[in-house]
Amino acid sequence: MGVHLKASRCRLCGALHHPPRAICPRCGPGSRGSLEEVELPDRGRVVAYTVLHYPPEGYPSPMILAVAEVGGVRLIGRVVGDLEAVGEGCEVEVVEGEGAPYLFLLEG
Ligand SMILES: [Zn+2]
Repeated sequence: MGVHLKASRCRLCGALHHPPRAICPRCGPGSRGSLEEVELPDRGRVVAYTVLHYPPEGYPSPMILAVAEVGGVRLIGRVVGDLEAVGEGCEVEVVEGEGAPYLFLLEG
């Protein structure tokens, strides 16, 4: 089951921010009150990834961290599922993780 994360969109410049912000870093303090909350899709595509053969204690080896483009923002997360299938451009589903959302690699 995918997770729809919240982001904020600046009405002044159109920039999307995740996590949501009260002030747009591009537009400065004058943008307070000009950001609206939007919901990101629960799917995205892998932009880049790295394989950790010596992950932090308590995590399985190998562990894959990926950057995925999700609805116009880039998220970093751990890939779970079929790790053999990971690659740039792969579609992932954002799923609930511990402390932070994971990126779930879809089967096939
Ligand atoms: Zn802005």
